[in-house]
Amino acid sequence: NAAKAKELRGEPGQTKDGHLIPLLANVGKPEDADPALEYGAEGVGLFRTEFLFLGNEEPPSVEEQTEAYAKLLSRFPGKKVVIRMLDAGADKPLPFLTPEDEPNPALGLRGLRTLRVHKKVLEDQLEAIARADAQTNADLWVMVPMVADQWEADYFVKLGKSKGLKKVGVMAEVPSIALMADKVAQVADFVSIGTNDLTQYTLAADRTLGSVAHYQTAWHPAVLRAIKLIADAGNANGMPVGVCGEAAADPDLAVVLAGIGVNSLSMTPVALDDVRAQLASVTFEEAKQKAAAALNGDFYKPAE
Ligand code: PEP
Ligand code: MG
Repeated sequence: NAAKAKELRGEPGQTKDGHLIPLLANVGKPEDADPALEYGAEGVGLFRTEFLFLGNEEPPSVEEQTEAYAKLLSRFPGKKVVIRMLDAGADKPLPFLTPEDEPNPALGLRGLRTLRVHKKVLEDQLEAIARADAQTNADLWVMVPMVADQWEADYFVKLGKSKGLKKVGVMAEVPSIALMADKVAQVADFVSIGTNDLTQYTLAADRTLGSVAHYQTAWHPAVLRAIKLIADAGNANGMPVGVCGEAAADPDLAVVLAGIGVNSLSMTPVALDDVRAQLASVTFEEAKQKAAAALNGDFYKPAE
């Protein structure tokens, strides 16, 4: 129950037998640090940076970005904070960066693809993040969305490191990166799985379209098998693998993700209590059994 779940705030995310799964918060602006801390987040697993760009006619200055990033980072001294690079395009179009004539925007320029076309936006954002890092003492990680393979991962990681950033990784949102996960583990410091997009692209169903909404669930065993490919590659190579999509906020699915071998979960702060309580109610072995059944499709309800 809710009161009991609340009692666990301040405890780390872990199974009944002490297998640690850090529980982090998804935030969309610096002020979201308040609910994240209130609900006992152990850090920030996804800081979406689109708020700085939306509604503007041009990209924000390096100074403006630095201030916003430092504001969030300063609330988490010594704690992990994962900043995500601008995800422009598809469901998050920006008039000055996103082409208007794409027939299939979800398959067009978005995330890293947009940033590579607009190199100054990419360089400026990395510069601002590096400056904010220098002014604060959070444990800063930086990642980029919509990465297709190890070559794109390598491109971004090298660029991030050239700016002095220490932990540089990628989001796994496209099935191709799951299929290449062993190669990605050779170049990226970490992977964070965006299950909203990984589900959309694995099942080829637009996440914004009501007519195909029943496909949009990470309980589909195909999505879970893609996640397993990434978790296995991460665990074999000592590369942390987190989940930061909606799937992490479903307590039963969170147990399955832990059992698959995911190392951390990031979610909307209000979901933290229930996920923490659910994880604490099972042993790691039980979570692994749940994962095996889920990977077999036992819990998936196909459309009638
Ligand atoms: C995701 O795709 O799961 C994700 C976390 O990113 P967004 O929802 O912002 O695309
Ligand atoms: Mg996404």
